[in-house]
Amino acid sequence: MSVVQTPWQAGTECVANYDFDGKTDQDLPFTKGEFLTIVAVTKDPNWYKAKNKLGRGGFIPANYVQKREGVKAGAKLSLMPWFHGKITREQAERLLYPPETGLFLVRESTNYPGDYTLCVSCEGKVEHYRIIYKNGKLTIDEEAYFDNLMQLVEHYTNDADGLCTSLMKPKLMEGTVAAQDEFFRSGWALKKSDLQILQTIGNGEFGDVKLGEYKGTKVAVKCIKNDATAQAFIAEALVMTQLRHKNLVQLLGVIVEDKCSLYIVTEFMAKGSLVDYLRSRGRSVLGGECLLQFSLDVSEGMEYLEANNFVHRDLAARNVLVSEDNIAKVSDFGLTKEASATQDTSKLPVKWTSPEALREKLFSTKSDVWSFGILLWEIYSFGRVPYPRIALRDVVPKVEKGYKMDAPDGCPPIVYDLMKKCWHLDANQRPTFRQLREQLEHNKANELYH
Ligand code: ADP
Ligand code: MG
Repeated sequence: MSVVQTPWQAGTECVANYDFDGKTDQDLPFTKGEFLTIVAVTKDPNWYKAKNKLGRGGFIPANYVQKREGVKAGAKLSLMPWFHGKITREQAERLLYPPETGLFLVRESTNYPGDYTLCVSCEGKVEHYRIIYKNGKLTIDEEAYFDNLMQLVEHYTNDADGLCTSLMKPKLMEGTVAAQDEFFRSGWALKKSDLQILQTIGNGEFGDVKLGEYKGTKVAVKCIKNDATAQAFIAEALVMTQLRHKNLVQLLGVIVEDKCSLYIVTEFMAKGSLVDYLRSRGRSVLGGECLLQFSLDVSEGMEYLEANNFVHRDLAARNVLVSEDNIAKVSDFGLTKEASATQDTSKLPVKWTSPEALREKLFSTKSDVWSFGILLWEIYSFGRVPYPRIALRDVVPKVEKGYKMDAPDGCPPIVYDLMKKCWHLDANQRPTFRQLREQLEHNKANELYH
C-alpha cells in the first residue's frame, strides 16, 4: 500500500534532514539542517524545485527534507510532561503501576510544601526521592545541583548517579504532549551541534538572550531560566511557528536536546530594541522619513497579526527590534494568543494597555491598536517614557476620563491624529491596522514627514 501525499505548494518551508550533494548542476545541494523553500512541483512527485536562503534554485529530493508546519496547540504542550503537580504518594504509586523499571514522574511534595519528589519504579517497587531547594538550586543528594527540574531529569536520565535506576520512561501527565516531541514532528527542532553560542546581548523576563551562530548565520538565542517560566516560553515558541512576515522577528527553530531543555533561536536583530535605538540616536540623527518608516514597518507586521487573528498584548517600542538594514520588526510573542482568550492582568504594562483590557481583560486587535498609538508616541518622542510627569497610579483614572497625551515636539499633525484615533475610549471606533498602514503608506508616498 502506498501513502498518497498531497504535493507541497510553492512557498512551503522545509528543513533538510540529510545532506544532499546533487547529482547534476540542475540539482540544489544542501546540508542537514538547512532551510529551503519550495518553488514548484515537478512531474516526478519525488522531486521538487526549491530555493535556498541565498536565493539559489534547483531540484531537491522530497524524502531528504521535512515540511515545517505551524505547531497547533491542540493537546497541552509541556516541557515537563512528567510533572504531575500536587498528587499524593499513593496516587503516584498508582500512576506508576504496572511496574516497569525506569518509569518515573515528579510531584510536589505533600510533606514539605515547596519541595518536589521524584518517584521512580524500580524492580517492582516505587522509590520516592525528595528533591530539596537549597540556595536557589535543586538537589537530591546535595552533591549534584540543578537550576530546574528539567536539568535534574536530564541528569538522572543519562546516569543513575546513586538512584536505584536511571530514568528511562516518563509517565506523562494525562492530556499533555511532550513539547520536545512536537517540535521534532513539525520540523522546528534544530541540532545543538550546529549552533555556537557567543556573548549575552540582552536580558529577558524568561532568561538571557545570547548572540549565536547557526550554520554561518548570526542568530539570537533565548534560553529558559527556570521551571516557572517554562510554559510561557513554550507558548512563545508555539506562536512563533505560526507566523511569517518581514516585519515580525522570524523564528528559525528551537533546540530541545540540550540540558537547558529549550532554546528559542530567532533571526539576529543587530541594532537592538527600537526604544534604545531611538534614545541613543535622537532627533539630531533620525529624520522624519526614518520615523515614518519605523511606524509603517510596525503597522505592516501588526496588520499581518490582525489578519491572522493573533493579539500581541505587549506591543511597545521595547518589544520592537531593528535589523542591520534598519527594518523594524515586532518581537516578544510571550503574551501573544490567538484572539479571544483572556489573561491575568497583574503583570500588564499599564501605560501601554487599553482601558478595557485593564478593566475587563478584554484583549483584542483593538487593544493592540491602542498600544500602537502609544508606540507611535514613543517613536515621535525619540523613546521617551509615555505620560511623562504623571504618577503611574494617576494614569489610569485620567485616561478613563478621556485624557490623552499631547503631541510630541515636532510630530506631524497627521501622525498625532492617528495616535488620538488609536486612543478612542470606544474600542470599536479605533482604526484597524490595515487603515493605519494605509494612512502611513499615504504619508510616505506624499513625503509628509513634518
Ligand atoms: P522578554 O521576553 O523578557 O521581554 P525580549 O525578547 O524582549 O525578552 O528580549 C530582551 C532583550 O534582548 C531585548 O530588549 C533585546 O535587547 C535583546 N534581544 C532579544 N531578541 C533579540 C534579537 N532577535 N536580536 C537582537 N537582540 C535581541
Ligand atoms: Mg521584551
